[in-house]
Amino acid sequence: MCSIIGYKGKDFAAPILVNSLKRMEYRGYDSVGVATLDEGKLLVRKGTGKVAEVNNKLDMSHMSGHIGIGHTRWATHGGVTDKNAHPHAAGDNKIAVVHNGIIENYKELKAELIKEGYIFASETDSEVIAHLLHRYYIETESIKQSLIKTCKRLQGAYAFVAVFQDGTIGGARYEEPLIIGVAKEGYFVSSDVLGFLEHTDKAIFLDNGDITIVDNDKVEIFDFEGNPVNRPITQVAWELGDIDKGKYAHHTLKEIDEQKLSIIRAYNQEEEKIDEFCKILSAAKNVYIVGSGTSYHSALVAKHVLGRYAKIRVEAIMSSESKYILSSLDKDSVVIAISQSGETADVLDSVRLAKNQGTKILSIVNVTTSSLARMSDSFLGTNSGPEIGVAATKSFTAQLIIIYSIADKLSEGKLGLDKEKLIHAVDRMLSNKSTVERLAQELKNHKDLYILGRFLHYPIALEGALKVKELAYVHAEGIAAGELKHGPLALMEKNTVVMILNPHDSTFNDTISNAHEIKARGATVVGISDSKEDVYDYWIPIPALSEEALYPIVEVIPLQLLAYYLAVGKNVDPDYPRNLAKSVTVR
Ligand code: GLU
Repeated sequence: MCSIIGYKGKDFAAPILVNSLKRMEYRGYDSVGVATLDEGKLLVRKGTGKVAEVNNKLDMSHMSGHIGIGHTRWATHGGVTDKNAHPHAAGDNKIAVVHNGIIENYKELKAELIKEGYIFASETDSEVIAHLLHRYYIETESIKQSLIKTCKRLQGAYAFVAVFQDGTIGGARYEEPLIIGVAKEGYFVSSDVLGFLEHTDKAIFLDNGDITIVDNDKVEIFDFEGNPVNRPITQVAWELGDIDKGKYAHHTLKEIDEQKLSIIRAYNQEEEKIDEFCKILSAAKNVYIVGSGTSYHSALVAKHVLGRYAKIRVEAIMSSESKYILSSLDKDSVVIAISQSGETADVLDSVRLAKNQGTKILSIVNVTTSSLARMSDSFLGTNSGPEIGVAATKSFTAQLIIIYSIADKLSEGKLGLDKEKLIHAVDRMLSNKSTVERLAQELKNHKDLYILGRFLHYPIALEGALKVKELAYVHAEGIAAGELKHGPLALMEKNTVVMILNPHDSTFNDTISNAHEIKARGATVVGISDSKEDVYDYWIPIPALSEEALYPIVEVIPLQLLAYYLAVGKNVDPDYPRNLAKSVTVR
């Protein structure tokens, strides 16, 4: 689930590994560890906490040796303890392993290995990999065979990297990403290109079922049968500068601010790619859109805009639910998958399910080298650059821009995507943050927050509530405004705070009535609108737009900012919300 890094080269491994782990911190984790090999001796240091904390305590970055592996763990099996942190060693420190994912059959394997006399030092599923490698290495005296035989025994999803006492680095992947970085002075093996992008932009993306051995200045890649496979070297195009915080206190605020630029980058698509995407989409009999979390909210917006403007009927499905729903697809159906990372396990599962039924896959994805992009018949990249904050912000608005571009194209301009005006409106929203910052101060001690919107604004109400929950740990609920009278009205009383997404569009008159109903029950009403109404206790102005489809992009910004300032006001780190990971690669 979290980060893996391996290095073998001319430089000292430990400082490189620690730095890489810091660069991948955004993925979310609870423990950190490094193993290096020096003169045939394996050294392991690991513990719970943040990379900098654990490094301060254990001085990992001064471990000796030019070969090593590192890991940040997001615990799935076994508590968050020092012992459960990776790397896990086997065979009296002859092998050390780091692993991302879940080994589903670890209980059987563990029982078998214990019977043979192996002693386990942790409660994790991952440790079985270390002992299996050791067992098969002893049996076959071959690192290659030990990797093959181990992979054949593992069930579940994994990417792992092992360092062997003779200095060889071995790794394998199955449904978790693993990428080799090819530098002038050495090799990297990582779960994320950000793990090595500082040193090289040349990457080899391993496929599902690939095993690799990095040894004596060369890389070998083969399948689970031991047959060599050829994987090309790809040049990765992201500017490293993007992953520094610059003048900002947090990545989250930087990324919210970057929306001025990221929406322009999302607009910049190759005409042919959009055409290909639209061609496949318009030929489809049935269209389903899948996504998780924020990307699911984009899917809901897509359903409305494709329906209204392009007259394409679309079903939006949470990817975690798709296995119960996507069971009768065919080659005339199309599944559009939306994902920032392109590695979300639930989304990839939906795509596999659809592909097995002959269905075409289109995707909207930020990481264009991801598994999702590679599994798609056609994809459009959101071009947002690395998104480090765990909560999606700039990737969401970029997804919306792509959805609008498609709907505009398919409807021959009916959506009215006025690029200049929208960019100007976003710029205005971002140049005045003080209204939202003050509101966050006022609301900081409230335990619940409701956000109301109808039609296109309902997905934004859900998205705003998600941001508030994940960043500020405040209970928040997005409510479809028309549903108020069917239940939620019972919650309205003095001290209740309700934010209302209420621009002057086709929803205005109905939603303003809701505002009055809420106010009549003594609740506090916050209007996010292009006009000031008496019923609002607080007003967050947004620019007036001529086309209503574009409002979601400007109205989500104050909600992102509110979640951010609430988190800061409550002294919680908005970049790394507790219990969450950036790219959820487990089911
Ligand atoms: N399942 C393993 C564990 O709980 C690996 C989790 C991860 O991907 O970080 O240790």
